[in-house]
Amino acid sequence: MRQKIVAGNWKMNKDFEDAEVLLDDIYNAQLKYKGDVQVIVCPPTLYLELATDYANDEEMDEAPFGVGAQNVSEYVKGAYTGEISAQMLASMGITHCIVGHSERRKYFGETDKIIAEKINLLLSYSMQPIYCCGEVLEEREAGKHIEVVAKQIQSALFHLTPEEFSNIIIAYEPVWAIGTGKNATPEQAQEMHDIIRKLILEKYGNEVANDTSILYGGSCNAKNARELFAMPDVDGGLIGGASLIAEDFLKIRDSFVD
Ligand code: PEP
Repeated sequence: MRQKIVAGNWKMNKDFEDAEVLLDDIYNAQLKYKGDVQVIVCPPTLYLELATDYANDEEMDEAPFGVGAQNVSEYVKGAYTGEISAQMLASMGITHCIVGHSERRKYFGETDKIIAEKINLLLSYSMQPIYCCGEVLEEREAGKHIEVVAKQIQSALFHLTPEEFSNIIIAYEPVWAIGTGKNATPEQAQEMHDIIRKLILEKYGNEVANDTSILYGGSCNAKNARELFAMPDVDGGLIGGASLIAEDFLKIRDSFVD
């Protein structure tokens, strides 16, 4: 079944003390939460263990939130100084991992081929990739945004079997909207999400397409989330800046229209 999801990408923010406060606030809110939105937090790697300590609370039947890494190595193991492997993440109880974020594509030279390797490794350790795709402003202005996003989806994901693909979460993040305060309009988001879902349908059939969660990301906040999430193919959000303030993040969680 298609899952509503709100995931927070903290990026390279918060010192240890502040990270603890934010996790504590989210944890306490999740203890009381009765809704059906899945919450995922993606703190910096150093704080993942702290996050899994909260998430693995034995007093709760279900984990109060999923814990996602922001990156994983494309290599399996060995002499790759500074890298973190999929096996390491899995052994820490990490459930999700962001891959293909535009900042990693831009600053760290990640290609769809590298991203596909990362996705394969994550899936082999039963973690769910949150696959980010999205066009830059020039591509949108040139009317190429659909072509660009379709190619990103096809080249990073369409080698997967239907069973493998059913573990993928997609985040459409127009690069011009990330951290700019200028979100896509609900109509722009819906148009792209609908196209992505149709691509999945053509490749994997109706059931997989219907069940895939497609999140919107890019300056989504407590004020605009409701109208974005009201769109039929927007199943939630990947939230950057607004995920750093518990109150805002939780308001976004509560922005789905029934
Ligand atoms: C992101 O980086 O994934 C993101 C959506 O950032 P922001 O919400 O700050 O635009």
